[in-house]
Amino acid sequence: MSDNGHLSDLQLDQLRIAAKDGKADPGNLRHIESCGSCHQRIEEIEQLAESVRPELAGVLARAEKQAEAHRRDPLGWRIPTMVAAGLCGLALLVILLVPTRSKQPSTEDIRVKGVSTMKVMLPGSGKDPGQVLAVGQRVRVRLSGTPAPRSLILRDVDGTWRMLWPRERDSQARAGDTVELDLDVGEPPGELTLTALFGPKQLTNDTALRLAKALRSNPRASLPKGTKAARRAFQVVAW
Ligand SMILES: [Zn+2]
Repeated sequence: MSDNGHLSDLQLDQLRIAAKDGKADPGNLRHIESCGSCHQRIEEIEQLAESVRPELAGVLARAEKQAEAHRRDPLGWRIPTMVAAGLCGLALLVILLVPTRSKQPSTEDIRVKGVSTMKVMLPGSGKDPGQVLAVGQRVRVRLSGTPAPRSLILRDVDGTWRMLWPRERDSQARAGDTVELDLDVGEPPGELTLTALFGPKQLTNDTALRLAKALRSNPRASLPKGTKAARRAFQVVAW
């Protein structure tokens, strides 16, 4: 915590990264959930990090190559050091650019503002399945971040709405927790949607369902204060 009682930009950036692995400091997460100012800043840092990511991927690929060359030629140590310095520079860039409040339009609905994420993957490879699923296919859904995951709602291909999580026996998630569950894609073919809600407070199932339905007809439907939503839509096909 900084002298002014808020988290510094550096602390926010570290928290953002740690939260993705579920390793964030619980005290700091509680602060983010209750402090509007820090919440806003961590969202801005996240958006900025997203916009810098392609560049970072390039630097990491080069670093990997240099490390490989270094293993073959131990005298080449200077180059990896320079790459490491470059990485530090990028991390600083993320932090230093925040005050400019650059707003990146969100192009995909997988990412939501802040560090809340819904990741959909194939159980074997961990890859994102894209937008087409097959009848009977199995997918894994992972929710994580802050504010805490609250609900995952499925609208099945036959139009039935179902709460996938939490169910009666599930415990509630806290900020930074990761919730993971497997889903079998049923019949018939059609559109299947997943709506994840994240928020500072637990929602009743009725409220969560109502919000998911509202978001389906209007993606900009208003949500309770501090609540965020992530949605994925899939086309289920019969192979
Ligand atoms: Zn604060």
